[in-house]
Amino acid sequence: MNDKVVQNALASAINCGVCARPLVYATESITKTCALCGKEEKTLIYCPAGHYVCDSCHSKAALEVLRQVLASSKTTDPASILEQVMSHPSVPMHGPEHHSIVPAAIVAAVRNSGYPLPEGAVEKALERASKVPGGWCGLYGDCGAAVGAGIAISVITGATPLTGKPRTLAMAATSQALSRMLDEQPRCCKRASRIAIQSTVEFLRERLGINLLQADKVRCTYSLRNHECARIQCPYYDEVFPEKPE
Ligand SMILES: [Zn+2]
Ligand SMILES: [Zn+2]
Repeated sequence: MNDKVVQNALASAINCGVCARPLVYATESITKTCALCGKEEKTLIYCPAGHYVCDSCHSKAALEVLRQVLASSKTTDPASILEQVMSHPSVPMHGPEHHSIVPAAIVAAVRNSGYPLPEGAVEKALERASKVPGGWCGLYGDCGAAVGAGIAISVITGATPLTGKPRTLAMAATSQALSRMLDEQPRCCKRASRIAIQSTVEFLRERLGINLLQADKVRCTYSLRNHECARIQCPYYDEVFPEKPE
């Protein structure tokens, strides 16, 4: 595969990055070989013409951008980290990269606030989030960005399955974020990530006494790129923006 094809494959999450056909979101899994790394795996999301890129290859470029931003960021506003990372051309419109961006942005903002965190906290959040696959919301009933809220609280509080209170807090953070996403709309990874971060900033303040910066609500600039945009049903939709030429 040439570089252009690889780049397209990584950048697209709406249509196939190789042939631009709309992706199939199936309910029966099928075995596919990743066009980039050759790994064979079962999947529910693939191109009808047979092209397939695994979650790990799909997320690679975006995660590199995320790591660069996290290494230099000094802000205590996780929403601004989220917007900065999402605006990079290597980050697709939708996809499991968002599952990593949410907890990493939150944990980095808490780190930047000076709150004492366990050793390697940001790295831990990234490692755990990388295991949450794409399409988790509709296929398993829990949005990966909401899981990201739980991962962040788990890392910050040092939760394990055996710790009563921290474990409960981690699940409560996921539950609160998820409960704010029940909008009867198709998935939008931008909307879900913004909701998860906003919910977690409130959660950190109310339940853990950690005060992060809470920026003004963003006006979305992704509506034209999102075929399933919820438009006026989305709290971030900018009614003026889609009228402008692309
Ligand atoms: Zn294709
Ligand atoms: Zn791969």
